[in-house]
Amino acid sequence: MLSAAELLQELLMRARPLDRTETIPLSEAYNRVLAEGLSSFVSVPPLDNTAMDGYAVRSKDCKLPDATLKVTQRIAAGQVGKPLHHGEAARIFTGAPVPPGADAIVMQEDTSVEGDSVTIYKTPRPGDHIRRAGEDIQPGTNVLTPGTRMKAPQLGLAASIGRTDAKFVRQLRVAMFSTGDELAEPGKPLKPGQIYNSNRATLRGLLTGLGVEVIDLGVVDDSREATVKAMQSAASKADVIITTGGVSVGEEDHVKAAVEELGRIDIWKVAMKPGKPVVYGRVGETDFIGLPGNPVSAFVTFCLFARPFLLKRMGASQVLYRAYPLRAAFDWNKPGKRREFLRGHVVSGQDGLGEVRLYPNQGSGVLTSAVWADGLVDIEIGQTIIRGEWVRFIPFSELLD
Ligand code: AMP
Ligand code: MG
Repeated sequence: MLSAAELLQELLMRARPLDRTETIPLSEAYNRVLAEGLSSFVSVPPLDNTAMDGYAVRSKDCKLPDATLKVTQRIAAGQVGKPLHHGEAARIFTGAPVPPGADAIVMQEDTSVEGDSVTIYKTPRPGDHIRRAGEDIQPGTNVLTPGTRMKAPQLGLAASIGRTDAKFVRQLRVAMFSTGDELAEPGKPLKPGQIYNSNRATLRGLLTGLGVEVIDLGVVDDSREATVKAMQSAASKADVIITTGGVSVGEEDHVKAAVEELGRIDIWKVAMKPGKPVVYGRVGETDFIGLPGNPVSAFVTFCLFARPFLLKRMGASQVLYRAYPLRAAFDWNKPGKRREFLRGHVVSGQDGLGEVRLYPNQGSGVLTSAVWADGLVDIEIGQTIIRGEWVRFIPFSELLD
């Protein structure tokens, strides 16, 4: 059995980044991965401009206390002022270009106005409240590198340099299906022996969050024929197939056998809790990842293994999640034989710093724990913990977006 670290390494080794690219508008590029670097032809901001509402002045004119200047112009954002002469001030509003000759802005709170003169109560220093041309971005700077996944700040930055489109890695196609004769779809009444299919909704959410094209093939019966057929159909449509359930050792588990019939299985089983059965294989050129059926196991193994794998296939440069130290608000005195990823919730401790609590029922079927939690507490094989000690915490923000 592989360790969790080995499984991740083996998977990433097998993940081939897509090489097809396409140019698409940035307005449709949320979550997409840049195939080219973006560099700027412009300065951001393009001109020196004011960070405050107030008065543009020549700081030398304001050396004496309560200096009084003549207000000779008014510059709103979007307008361009005239040169400012000795003894003059310009009424100016946030974002407006600083007029030639002015070298400081006095906040309006530090002035008083009478007729067309303004009295300055606070002596300005050169540069006060001026945002310099190019202080964010200089022309020629590379602002975004290939492999960047476009989230809100990246989209904003690309817009700030005037871009409307860019070259992206083509969208990854992921086919998914759930297995299990006991599964009923939400909306239908439950027959005896049935449970609602939750993995389908969880997996769809996880895949949607990643920004892949989701090909949802629904539920497949627990039979060899049905599983082979579904697998073939999925392989013809997708770059990656992800399934839940049917990968344990039971007679009703047909997923592994179906993949072996059509292709090959490279990896099976990981020494962790929740999880254990996690399968990687190939059907032709299509990757196959089989996740466990238990809802929490499917969720956790997707986050820890499938997600980095998919990100690498999407061409993303950052595929690994990060863990952070947090203090344990619990004791852990049962050293385990498998690495455990427990559902934890962060609370504010006595000193105001965060500490992490555990959901009381860590069962692999208890999906409530995943909703209650903010992330996963990562406990090594054999590790024990005394309240107040540091533990590794992987926030869901590292796993879900
Ligand atoms: P399996 O891996 O197929 O043996 O399933 C393990 C456990 O997870 C069983 O209790 C199943 O009923 C449950 N399970 C499997 N698939 C799903 C699903 N899509 N939604 C909810 N529970 C599931
Ligand atoms: Mg099953």
